Amino acid sequence: MFEITAVHATMLYLGGSLAVIFSVWIFQHWQARKKPSISHIEELYICEYCHFAYLSSPDPINRCPQCKSLNKDNRYQP
Ligand SMILES: [Zn+2]
Repeated sequence: MFEITAVHATMLYLGGSLAVIFSVWIFQHWQARKKPSISHIEELYICEYCHFAYLSSPDPINRCPQCKSLNKDNRYQP
């Protein structure tokens, strides 16, 4: 019969803990890869008044989320 010593029990505990942490990390890494960081529907705009950069749907007139003023089509041109 296989006898478990304190050293073996500690190694099993640490190995199991590391395996769980590694599994959770891999799972969350794959979940994050599925979602795009920036939606393809939204575009980057710069507010005419406060120069705040924000993402919005491509409408001719959009509202700045910081100063709440309406802006014309002011897409960011890199
Ligand atoms: Zn603004």
